[in-house]
Amino acid sequence: MYDVIISGAGPSGSKCAEVLAKKGFKIALLEKDINWRKPCGGGVHHRAFYLIPKLRKLNIPKIHGIVMHSADYHKLEYRMKGQKYGTVMDRLEFDNLMRNTAIDEGAELFNKNLSLDFIVKNKVKIGIRTKSSSGTKEYYGKILIIADGMSSKLAPKSGLRSKWKTEELGIAKCAIMEGDNQLDEEFIYTYFRPYKGYGWIFPLGNKKFNIGVTTFAEDNTNYNLFSLYNQFLKDSHIKKYISNSNYKIIWTGAFPFPAEGVLEKSLYDDNLLLIGDTGGFVSPISGEGIHTSIISGNTAAEVAIKALQEEDYSKTFLKKYKSHPEIRKMIRNFKLKRSMIKFFYEKRGENLNKLLALAEKDPEFKNHVVDMFLSKSLPSQDFISKLKTVN
Ligand SMILES: Cc1cc2nc3c(=O)[nH]c(=O)nc-3n(C[C@H](O)[C@H](O)[C@H](O)COP(=O)(O)OP(=O)(O)OC[C@H]3O[C@@H](n4cnc5c(N)ncnc54)[C@H](O)[C@@H]3O)c2cc1C
Repeated sequence: MYDVIISGAGPSGSKCAEVLAKKGFKIALLEKDINWRKPCGGGVHHRAFYLIPKLRKLNIPKIHGIVMHSADYHKLEYRMKGQKYGTVMDRLEFDNLMRNTAIDEGAELFNKNLSLDFIVKNKVKIGIRTKSSSGTKEYYGKILIIADGMSSKLAPKSGLRSKWKTEELGIAKCAIMEGDNQLDEEFIYTYFRPYKGYGWIFPLGNKKFNIGVTTFAEDNTNYNLFSLYNQFLKDSHIKKYISNSNYKIIWTGAFPFPAEGVLEKSLYDDNLLLIGDTGGFVSPISGEGIHTSIISGNTAAEVAIKALQEEDYSKTFLKKYKSHPEIRKMIRNFKLKRSMIKFFYEKRGENLNKLLALAEKDPEFKNHVVDMFLSKSLPSQDFISKLKTVN
């Protein structure tokens, strides 16, 4: 019998396992395949560093700023103040770093275990049933934490929510490429498009970069993602930075992410917590979910520790996860970003074009735009009023 079973050893699950194991609890971390490279831009926000101190010791790219482009190529360049930096990592390397940290703290990792269903006794979820190379396995625990991402089989079976619908998703295609390029390795590059979506180029160091495009909401079905990806690679504005015609493709993949933000009602139940992508912890518009998922995993672990100490695994107790200030702050921020989508993408992204054009001319306005996209603080009423006059 485990204290906690965590399904999914991605960033959210591994962080959660690390924090719980460090406190001495018996943790099972179930993972379908530690060699799977999750399709992702691999952009890690500087705010994630305090939760992953090991990152500072690695020889990784130091990203000091962003170059944002509107669909009509107005440009907003921003360099973070002080010594702050984020990074871009290959997800295979990043995920295994986080898994190994959890193992070092004492969590037991069970690789090649695909979580299929809950084990239920007297209407209570008491464990998780998996498929492994040696047949069906059963893991029993006091608390079950679902962290197996976007394609979770357990989340819809939990009764907390149904499967995400296509229009509730973002869908992205990306690749890691290698070759001479003209990117400034201290910056990431993003491109809003005249549809709900964007493109990116993230330098990975050593002449490598991650490049991709995404669509979201109804434009998942209005556009063909693979054609958009090919168009993006050929775009003359992109060619400015990656001018070779034969980059070596190291890896390529496509995957969805939840784009609606968190569904508050579907985060907890008796013995059960949903974290990371499974809980919807991805920022609407930017699709950023690594550091928000890690925060959700860290917070879920803190609440589970208290529940284990008080031997109370009821939903009344586990509600503390949803009402935790960190989670409430993220939910507020996601809601605000979602509320701005319609305005931004109206008339093929015209308001975003105007926004970045104005930011080019007005430094104070530019700071607000940067805060709106990059900070977790909410934009001021003043700024929101000014935004409306842009229209
Ligand atoms: C193409 C793309 C680009 C992105 N780019 C960025 C970016 O640049 N920066 C950023 O911050 N965010 C980005 N995101 C979002 C980010 O990838 C996720 O928000 C983040 O990975 C969520 O972490 P997680 O641990 O919740 O889930 P995941 O990273 O999805 O991890 C889930 C884990 O569970 C395992 N698993 C899945 N199913 C099962 C099962 N049935 N049983 C057992 N194990 C299972 C998986 O193998 C995986 O290890 C991007 C997403 C996509 C799709």
